[in-house]
Amino acid sequence: MSKRLVILGGGESGAGTAVLGLKQGYDVFVSDKGKIAPKHKEILAEYKVEYEEEQHTEDKILNADLVMKSPGIPEKADLVKKLRANNVKIVSEIEFASWYTDAKIVGITGANGKTTTTALTYQIMKDAGLNVGLGGNIGKSFAMQVATENYDHYVLEISSFQLDDIEKFSPHISILTNITPDHLDRYNYELQNYVASKYAIATNQTAADYFIYCQDDEITMQNIDKYPTAAKKIPFSYEKEVAEGAYVKDETIHININNNNPFTMSIQELGIRGRHNVYNSMAAGIVANIYGLRKEQIRESLANFKSLEHRLETVTKIRGIEFINDSKATNVNSTWYALESVSKPIIWIAGGVDKGNDYSVLEGLVKKKVRAMICLGVDNTKLHSAFSKHVDIVVNCNNMRDAVRMAYQLSNPGDAVLLSPACASFDLFQNYEDRGKKFKDAVIQL
Ligand code: ADP
Repeated sequence: MSKRLVILGGGESGAGTAVLGLKQGYDVFVSDKGKIAPKHKEILAEYKVEYEEEQHTEDKILNADLVMKSPGIPEKADLVKKLRANNVKIVSEIEFASWYTDAKIVGITGANGKTTTTALTYQIMKDAGLNVGLGGNIGKSFAMQVATENYDHYVLEISSFQLDDIEKFSPHISILTNITPDHLDRYNYELQNYVASKYAIATNQTAADYFIYCQDDEITMQNIDKYPTAAKKIPFSYEKEVAEGAYVKDETIHININNNNPFTMSIQELGIRGRHNVYNSMAAGIVANIYGLRKEQIRESLANFKSLEHRLETVTKIRGIEFINDSKATNVNSTWYALESVSKPIIWIAGGVDKGNDYSVLEGLVKKKVRAMICLGVDNTKLHSAFSKHVDIVVNCNNMRDAVRMAYQLSNPGDAVLLSPACASFDLFQNYEDRGKKFKDAVIQL
């Protein structure tokens, strides 16, 4: 008799797992407590997968041989507790999909920079002519691609939630971009739990594999010896030369792997700006060098890569004022890099839902660079108390159009208007994409 695979959550990873499960001969059932999006329903219908939405029917779930839990479902959910109590095996989508492919995997995790580093690594490998798929949190799910494509390599963006339920999953090359506190509500407010889930990316790697990490990142370095891996460890650093790995010296990236004809590239030539993107480029460049790709071609891919939407994206220039959309900056750390990377006087639009932010790390940059600040949130009191003493002009707005108009009025030619909120968007917007789009629309209407 077929084994019963129950999939909790009918989103991108759930629908993909359903298709893969079916192809692998499982008896598949999908259950979602919320509504399933039309595009995922279509997939389930096309493959004749049985599903339910807006409910969990326990009789159809607790009898599972195997459960795939979507990353959005927390461990505290009642149903998950019951499944655990019944000793039902629960895995994440990347774990399940990895059982059914021999492709080599580059897995990328971290608090910030995952999407950019994943897209960059994929672009270099694709430009080099490798038969490579892009997945995880970006685009199509990994499981769907394993079910329907035939790639030799995958570059996967992997969240800590996906890593929480792995067992054997093991990338050939893993990247940990950095660790700053985030999503702690899912980790019992314990930073160490979050750190452990990030480091899980390297747990199953072997001596034939690589683990790439940021040597300048404090939390990564405090923990690196606590989570052993058999993989070869390759650091990247902006601050210090490293014997093997990547570093910056005299504004030039140097990458040295296996002492094999080092790669160099001026950071001015990179297609994306900001110190954080030098980090992301170094990490992607190490992967390309491990693969032994042609240096000229790696350089060309890194130079041609354009910033992704909502990540330090230049919208346009009006009257010599540059408008920059960094709506994806939903924590203080990413806003730090945005403020650091803009070399003009800044009119800064910030605010939203504060996830317990400590703004003190931004003070130095704000004092030096920010001419005026526009607080765009329902409750701006914390921003005022953090920055009023450092910035001459601090105003409140409660919608994007007013915020952009106000920023325009306050700016001079040669300034930059920067939306880099350091906060989540849910008070005034649907999500960070909606916030970024509204910013761009408002700029275009000026
Ligand atoms: P993620 O997928 O991890 O959220 P993104 O590549 O989408 O990361 O970038 C999210 C935000 O974080 C962007 O606003 C960007 O400015 C900032 N950022 C990107 N890379 C880094 C990095 N290496 N370190 C710190 N911040 C970064």
